[in-house]
Amino acid sequence: MTEIETLQKWLDESRRAVFFGGAGVSTESGIPDFRSVDGLYNQSYAYPPETIISHSFFLKAPEEFYRFYKEKMLYLDAKPNAAHRKLAELEAAGHLAAVVTQNIDGLHQAAGSKTVYELHGSVHRNYCMKCRKFFDAPFIKQAEGVPRCDLCGGTVKPDVVLYEEPLDALTMERAVEAIANADVLLIGGTSLAVYPAAGLINYYRGDRLALINKTPTPYDARANLILTGRIGEILSQIRV
Ligand code: ZN
Repeated sequence: MTEIETLQKWLDESRRAVFFGGAGVSTESGIPDFRSVDGLYNQSYAYPPETIISHSFFLKAPEEFYRFYKEKMLYLDAKPNAAHRKLAELEAAGHLAAVVTQNIDGLHQAAGSKTVYELHGSVHRNYCMKCRKFFDAPFIKQAEGVPRCDLCGGTVKPDVVLYEEPLDALTMERAVEAIANADVLLIGGTSLAVYPAAGLINYYRGDRLALINKTPTPYDARANLILTGRIGEILSQIRV
């Protein structure tokens, strides 16, 4: 059997597969990994992304935070790609229990996925830091400089997990539960280097761990199946 045939068999037989994905899933929708913004070639930012996208920087320099955020993290015209669509189909057909994602773009939900655990939050949820009023992503995009609450004038903050901030405990708990109960764990578009990816996959107890990636990861030795290539191209070969 080829690798893709094996994956097909596993997904056919699965009733509670979990997909764990990272930035590579969204790059095929034209959303670059903001971590790849290179200081040497990007003269318009004085700090590395990890500094700008941190809690203390947000409080200290919200104008600069939002300049980066709107330019490098807010892609409201992006559309779901073949990977997002196939995962939504697999869930609808009763094979996939959940998507656990490190992405913040909401493209899994846009493709129709229902159970999505967003470890790093979502650009589609934004709240006033004073009165908690909700604002959508277009409000943020259109705001001049720092978005302010129209009710109380408070600063509006994206519900995105910044560096120095803890992950949402309930989201983590649900992701752990889904992975611990998974019959197939499919991992794609992540080098597994970003916290908490590596820790999470240790909760998987089965022997059907499939990795889809363009390049080797430190977890290849743990995988039962490795598919090398673009995730959209690989998943589009799966029949649901
Ligand atoms: Zn407010």
